[in-house]
Amino acid sequence: MTDQLRLMAIFAHPDDEAFGTGGTLIKYAQEGVEVHLVMATRGEAGQLANPDITPTHPFSLLREQELRRACAVYGLKQLHLLGYVDGQTPIVPPAEAVYKIVWLLRDIMPQVVISFGPDGVYGHYDHLAVHRWASAAVTLAGDPDRWPEIGAAHQVAKFYHRAMPQPQVDNMKERLGYNAVMMDGIPFPFTGYSLEQITTIIDTHEFAARKVQAIRCHASQIRPDSPFLQDDFDPVANEWFWQETYILAQNGDRSGSMLTNGKETDLFAGVR
Ligand SMILES: [Zn+2]
Repeated sequence: MTDQLRLMAIFAHPDDEAFGTGGTLIKYAQEGVEVHLVMATRGEAGQLANPDITPTHPFSLLREQELRRACAVYGLKQLHLLGYVDGQTPIVPPAEAVYKIVWLLRDIMPQVVISFGPDGVYGHYDHLAVHRWASAAVTLAGDPDRWPEIGAAHQVAKFYHRAMPQPQVDNMKERLGYNAVMMDGIPFPFTGYSLEQITTIIDTHEFAARKVQAIRCHASQIRPDSPFLQDDFDPVANEWFWQETYILAQNGDRSGSMLTNGKETDLFAGVR
């Protein structure tokens, strides 16, 4: 059996990791899994959502500081910044970005990788680019003929897409009155998947309070009226806050991991 378990999450902007996967990162780090986070940009194109915060110059510095604080809350082994410009990832030469991720995959050798799915949660261009890079990198990292100068091939056992279930999207609309992200004044709706399409549900309620703490680290991105900032915010009240959902996209031995409802409850099921 494998001795050291390793998980790598690959996202685009500081805070991408917080809402849908923050509990997962905390849970596995707590269990002794080495958790790595790869972030494509420093999120400098994000708008300052809280006027009480004084932005740094450059703004990327503040976003990076916030991310590093959140990483401490997750208990990460390491943060890896790819250093791309926020909003510009679609014009990055894919071979360059994929090469960097293949390098990290072969160096760190995670059994499990999580990233965006083809929906990019709400179709953000950077999320779509990162989805494509991560998917290609997971495949190419296992190809011994590709870039042999950066290490031996590494086969990722399971590659997951972070995926929102439609009931979660509907629940958001009910509670908050919206189910979209505003970019340039245009609402881009969250993509919801049917519960049948969701393969994996990670119960992170035990870590829900720490997840809120990590979300709050991304202070410049959170409006003062956000529910996450309110003193009476109860992190376990809404199951969609602590049930983190994924679609197993590639490979994987799911034997022994299925419950009677057909959902996996452990990203490392079949790997341990
Ligand atoms: Zn993002």
